[in-house]
Amino acid sequence: MSAQTSNQYDAIVVGGGHNGLVCAAYLAAAGLKVTVLERRSVVGGAAITEEFHPGFRNSVASYAVSLLNPKIIRDLELPAHGLRIVERRLANFLPTADGRYLITGGGRTREEVARFSARDAARLGDYGERLESIADVLRDLVLTTPPNALEGSWRTALPELVRAARVAGRLRRLDMGQRRELLALFATSAGDYLDNWFESEPIKALYGFDSIVGNYASPYTPGSAYVLLHMVFGEVNGKRGAWGHAIGGMGAITQAMARAAAARGVVIRVASPVREVLVEGDRAVGVVTESGETLRAAAVISNLNPRLLYLNMFAPSALPPEFREHMSHWRCGSGTFRMNVALHELPDFTCLPGRRLADHHTAGIILAPTLAYMEQAYFDARTFGWSRQPIVELVIPSTLDDTLAPSGQHVASLFCQHVAPQLPNGESWDQHREKVADLMIETVNAHAPNFKAAVLARQIMSPLDLERTFGLTGGDIFHGALSLDQLFSARPMLGYGNYRGPLQGLYMCGSGTHPGGGVTGAPGHNAAREVLRDFRHGRLRRVA
Ligand SMILES: Cc1cc2nc3c(=O)[nH]c(=O)nc-3n(C[C@H](O)[C@H](O)[C@H](O)COP(=O)(O)OP(=O)(O)OC[C@H]3O[C@@H](n4cnc5c(N)ncnc54)[C@H](O)[C@@H]3O)c2cc1C
Repeated sequence: MSAQTSNQYDAIVVGGGHNGLVCAAYLAAAGLKVTVLERRSVVGGAAITEEFHPGFRNSVASYAVSLLNPKIIRDLELPAHGLRIVERRLANFLPTADGRYLITGGGRTREEVARFSARDAARLGDYGERLESIADVLRDLVLTTPPNALEGSWRTALPELVRAARVAGRLRRLDMGQRRELLALFATSAGDYLDNWFESEPIKALYGFDSIVGNYASPYTPGSAYVLLHMVFGEVNGKRGAWGHAIGGMGAITQAMARAAAARGVVIRVASPVREVLVEGDRAVGVVTESGETLRAAAVISNLNPRLLYLNMFAPSALPPEFREHMSHWRCGSGTFRMNVALHELPDFTCLPGRRLADHHTAGIILAPTLAYMEQAYFDARTFGWSRQPIVELVIPSTLDDTLAPSGQHVASLFCQHVAPQLPNGESWDQHREKVADLMIETVNAHAPNFKAAVLARQIMSPLDLERTFGLTGGDIFHGALSLDQLFSARPMLGYGNYRGPLQGLYMCGSGTHPGGGVTGAPGHNAAREVLRDFRHGRLRRVA
């Protein structure tokens, strides 16, 4: 094979995050010659596992499974490639402001909520059903391509009209009450929405936490109620709304995906950062790597945050000016600070004492007792750069997975919010990361006084670390805010919501496209379908 043909592909996927791997696997399964070029020495993007202290391994960024799509698990045969997902024994454990605690999951939610409010306990069923029935309809849209707002001839408009009609058809399945609820979820704040449903603070805080995950906003910010819905889409081992853990951490998911892709013939190249997308006329025709190597392909598919792609990998003149301008305003910055700690013993919570492994240690432990606390955390972060009383979710995956830490010892993930994506007064996160990490540990210690002394080692990811390590612009965990103006057909921009970029042959398959962030695999799956459609319809020609 000559050097020229060996560097020619039907499709090049830029970035080996989980969506890039999924996209590549589907394309190769259809017979295309595909390569994935990953900047780092490991594939998986924000879903990887690393040893951060001798004998202690953990997911570095993303840490819990729920949104990973069952169809993709099946199609890629991920269990056969080594993936095993286990469920938590309890869903959540939330210490309250008055020294008590709320537990959910494990069949105990109703009785536990009733300890705070009999009225709230009685309303839980209706709340769950209402959200679930709407999520059901929207769940169907996860694997569909949004209708694209297109100018042009009837030939281009017709398929989009058909798609729009299909979406409208699905929404028509909602009764009037559900439609009103959907409007409320899109337009109101999670805080207002939950205040309308419940009266006791702990259950509102527990649900409200979902609305600020990856969302740098107060739970009272209009539009934040939608994120409640985004989180309900998930399921684990067929159980809707459940959260689980991949044995071996999130890297086990992406390693299984990489094996599935390789088994279908994908050539995966790590330590191969792409410097620019090669453009000829109005077509993307390949890429140039940092080392100066040129690879050509009929389709160039980006797994990157849209802002990173369009502002860094093209000469400004290669893109329509209004498109580039729009991308420069793409809102990124989820206000997330992430840590791992190695622990020589489990945290002993004042409100539920005990250092021996108990069900609550397996839960998502939420340290944010009220919606008002979360709102204050946001205001603090806006003013000072981080909240003086931050929001921390503590998850101890080694309670469910004995491959992560030496026997009797543990690893914990701290998923912390709110911190400012960019600090005030131009200060750098490098100056403050250790201090803020101390604050996060003190925050846990206030609830479990043996925690600080139990920490053997820690790994810190400030927003800047997330950007530098993973290419997550502004540290945004979802490749861009999940707000109404950046969702569905408008992700990443109205007119480009169907995975196609502004140049022929250019596609997007990352979390910056529908249905957004989370380890879902859905953007990769949907993008592959659109690329294959263009090959089928002659808009792309096989070169390999
Ligand atoms: C701290 C944190 C916690 C999270 N928690 C959860 C969670 O618990 N559950 C959940 O479902 N989701 C979670 N998420 C969100 C989820 O991890 C992401 O939305 C998802 O992993 C993004 O996948 P992706 O494939 O779209 O992009 P990415 O994973 O960002 O992959 C993009 C890839 O492109 C590569 N790349 C960048 N530049 C170049 C270049 N120039 N050349 C070649 N390659 C390049 C990157 O190295 C990376 O591998 C979390 C994210 C973070 C950061």
